[in-house]
Amino acid sequence: MMKSLLIANRGEIACRVIRTARRLGIRTVAVFSEADATALHVRLADDAVPIGPAVARESYLVSEKIIAAAHSSGAEAIHPGYGFLSENAGFAEAVQAAGLVWVGPSPESIRAMGLKDAAKARMIAAGVPVTPGYLGEDQSPERLQAEADAIGYPVLIKAVAGGGGKGMRRVEGAGDFADALQSCRREAAASFGDDRVLIEKYILSPRHIEVQVFGDKHGDVVHLFERDCSLQRRHQKVIEEAPAPGMDAATRQQVCAAAVRAAEAVDYVGAGTVEFIADASQGLSADRIWFMEMNTRLQVEHPVTEAITGVDLVEWQLRIASGEPLPRRQEQLAIDGWAMEARLYAEDPRKGFLPSTGTLEVFELEGQARIDTGVEQGAVISPFYDPMIAKVITHADTRDEAREQLAEVLEEAVIWPVRTNAGFLVQALRQPEFAAGTMDTGLIAREGEALMPPERPSEDALREAAGALVGERRLAGFRLNAPPRRTASFLLDGAAIEVVGSQPEDEGAEAVLISEAGQTWELRHWRITGTGAGGAGDGAILSPMPGRVIAVDVAEGDRVAKGQMLLTLEAMKMEHGLIAPFDGTVGALETEVGAQVSEGALLVRIEAEES
Ligand code: ADP
Repeated sequence: MMKSLLIANRGEIACRVIRTARRLGIRTVAVFSEADATALHVRLADDAVPIGPAVARESYLVSEKIIAAAHSSGAEAIHPGYGFLSENAGFAEAVQAAGLVWVGPSPESIRAMGLKDAAKARMIAAGVPVTPGYLGEDQSPERLQAEADAIGYPVLIKAVAGGGGKGMRRVEGAGDFADALQSCRREAAASFGDDRVLIEKYILSPRHIEVQVFGDKHGDVVHLFERDCSLQRRHQKVIEEAPAPGMDAATRQQVCAAAVRAAEAVDYVGAGTVEFIADASQGLSADRIWFMEMNTRLQVEHPVTEAITGVDLVEWQLRIASGEPLPRRQEQLAIDGWAMEARLYAEDPRKGFLPSTGTLEVFELEGQARIDTGVEQGAVISPFYDPMIAKVITHADTRDEAREQLAEVLEEAVIWPVRTNAGFLVQALRQPEFAAGTMDTGLIAREGEALMPPERPSEDALREAAGALVGERRLAGFRLNAPPRRTASFLLDGAAIEVVGSQPEDEGAEAVLISEAGQTWELRHWRITGTGAGGAGDGAILSPMPGRVIAVDVAEGDRVAKGQMLLTLEAMKMEHGLIAPFDGTVGALETEVGAQVSEGALLVRIEAEES
């Protein structure tokens, strides 16, 4: 077994690899960019080497820097994780040429599976069923169109060099083909530097089924059963599980055997995943399941396979890279229970899933689950890398239990102020088709809004939080529905809302977080806006009560519009915004930030516009 290992990655996968290596007594070396100097993976590793700027192109993606880091730190082997350089045959070659152990398949295997068309051709030769289509020897638009017409619509145009869901176009009819081809080629050229495409029959009711395989350096290959990754958004996996719902033993046997043949056909060594697409319109059946591609690395969703097989896949990778034989034979592997994984992203589902960056001031994610993460409370989510912040994995006797357990853990997550998709995941996990295991890859697109998490907390949660802000006694009074009741304004994530409650008192918190259904909101103390006592008539803005000026938004001579915020006063732990009573000019500003003012004090005078 190797004695030291450099992990050419970051985030949760770097942390995950480090944990297994440590358990096996291997010294670990992390690499890190300037944005990751204090990251968890750096602190977990025995050693860490800086490799340059935050942008991955200048750090995590630079082979020479990674190899130099291995040499300088005395690491014997390199684990690439997933993404970054993990499927880069040139990197694998460079690692080996540098006399280091590469934890992964040979550069030849990576190349053989790297282009979708060549891989499909090889699979056909190996007797693996592939999606009906045209492999594109002739790339002329006329020929491609004729092939698409012959396959029958809808068809899918795929960039042969594509990956990560990019470079694909669904075409509904012959009339749309030419335009779709052009736009797919443009995207393929821009993203992969290769504009060649292939054409596949578009499978209706598609399910994504993939098989975990492992090969060793002695020519043996086993499979570790299938995963179902059909819940996708824009061809990206969202929730994964193992085994696949509705997979009977005979179908499983055939699909897994096909995956083993696929791996054998390219002399596969290490962890790999053979991806299939199933036409699930009439359930899962081996004659409607076709090879799509092989991923020559460890997958993001590998933990669900670990959960049901009891195998540490990273341990197997390290043993196999060290030359050991496969730790178990096929007949020693079995499925135990059901596992499900959700990918937790720092993104805002309500804003088109836009990544959400910033400091994780609150990061509470726990429960009956395995949580693979690369961040902790206080960490910064930067715009430089993939916004996945954690994977949450549950394992139970049945699918329903694993699913419900996962929903519960996500529901109780408290993450703030960074937005996450936790609430969206909870909705997806409880969506009836998904719950029944009859989903296909189009489910999220079809459901759309129905999967959106609630925009604001429930009235109960709001009232409780409002009560916490105004003090226990008032809360009790409120619960008894005791008069007088008032409508008061709060700021929910900065936006004014009304809550029916009682007057605030001078105790209670400044702000509280409301967590519900996987969402977290901030409720701030009352903010009352007004023009100040006596202010409306002559433009004199007077302090309505004794307090402290905490913000001044205008300067002398400024033109202001009616309703514009002039300054903010803090009194009795409430903020009072004072606004302009009419259009005008700031004639005199009699106060400043930090000033203590008494009731009735003149703060600002607004002079009316001469008309
Ligand atoms: P990538 O390499 O970009 O991940 P894949 O070929 O693995 O692309 O396909 C990604 C996803 O696109 C699949 O998981 C599936 O949801 C969908 N897909 C791929 N091929 C087809 C097809 N022939 N019909 C319908 N959907 C498909």
